Amino acid sequence: MTLTLSLKQSKLRGWPGLLEAYRSYLPVTEETPVVTLQEGNTPLVPVPSIAHQVGREVEVFVKSDGLNPTGSFKDRGMTLAISKAKEAGAKAVICASTGNTSASAAAYARRAGMGAFVLIPDGYVALGKLAQALLYGAEVLAIKGNFDQALEIVRDVADKYPVTLVNSVNPYRLEGQKTGAFEVVDTLGDAPDWLCVPVGNGGNVTAYWMGFCQYHQAGKCDRLPKMMGFQAAGAAPIVKGHPIATPETVASAIRIGNPASWGKAVAAQQASQGSFTAVSDKEILEAYRLLASNEGIFCEPASAASVAGLLKVKDQVPTGAKIVCVLTGHGLKDPDVAIKHSHNNQFQQGIEPTVDAVAAVMGF
Ligand SMILES: *Cc1c(COP(=O)(O)O)cnc(C)c1O
Repeated sequence: MTLTLSLKQSKLRGWPGLLEAYRSYLPVTEETPVVTLQEGNTPLVPVPSIAHQVGREVEVFVKSDGLNPTGSFKDRGMTLAISKAKEAGAKAVICASTGNTSASAAAYARRAGMGAFVLIPDGYVALGKLAQALLYGAEVLAIKGNFDQALEIVRDVADKYPVTLVNSVNPYRLEGQKTGAFEVVDTLGDAPDWLCVPVGNGGNVTAYWMGFCQYHQAGKCDRLPKMMGFQAAGAAPIVKGHPIATPETVASAIRIGNPASWGKAVAAQQASQGSFTAVSDKEILEAYRLLASNEGIFCEPASAASVAGLLKVKDQVPTGAKIVCVLTGHGLKDPDVAIKHSHNNQFQQGIEPTVDAVAAVMGF
């Protein structure tokens, strides 16, 4: 049933989803059952107040990937990983997740009629992400450990039992995620000077670089960007050069101490002459509030690391540069952090239900 639906969908007008839009750049064949929620085609939004803070006549855009169907960029990789798992006859998939991978895996697996098992670190998954995995119908297994331990377990389980691993160590995940770079080039007309991206497992920074290189080879862009990766200071193994046993950060999506794509991420950074930099939770939260209150853009804390990072290294930005910051996930994923870290004088409670009382509080 899923197959017929998706074939019919491709005859509708409008955006068909990533696998149809970028079919010739992806490992998709006639035999691949396309499992899609019409992900991708997310807006590239100018953020002039951020550009103003950087100065030097730069242009800054955010890639609003929180507007994907399950609210994060993970859908770019999941549409392909689940389609290929279905093509191979898989009945169930498994992943470890700080939240967004589980939401995405659950949605696409259920749409494909497959089971979904997700391992999460107990107590460290943002509320919206947990809500999604549960409602999509995944089996949610919270372990008394962190993401890195959960990933080790699911790798072993997928080796021993008939379930397909859909973490970003599954190569189809990165193949799908590279479409983010295609969209940036298709929108800007060329690659930007810098691509700023939050780094957890290092999959996204790797995938973007793959995408830019492939588009460059295909003649779709004349140049390649510097890959600027940003980790949270309490979870910055790549910056520090060694794994972190107990990573800590408010940005739960990048609370990772031993990145699965460490080597590939460093290769991308080196080949692009980019860098990895750590940003503090304070800097992340400042950028998070700035994006929302100055630009009307509500991303999740981990995503704000890309903008916090840009502001941190703004002295290195060349004059007139075009910069894209990837906003990897939607702000509604983590309402607890939003409420806890908004300015408390904004929320006045217990007001009498009269015009006079309301007007008085408004300062009239
Ligand atoms: C997964 C995720 C990241 C980290 O991406 P990696 O590919 O693991 O480096 C960053 N932000 C959000 C919102 C995520 O869901």
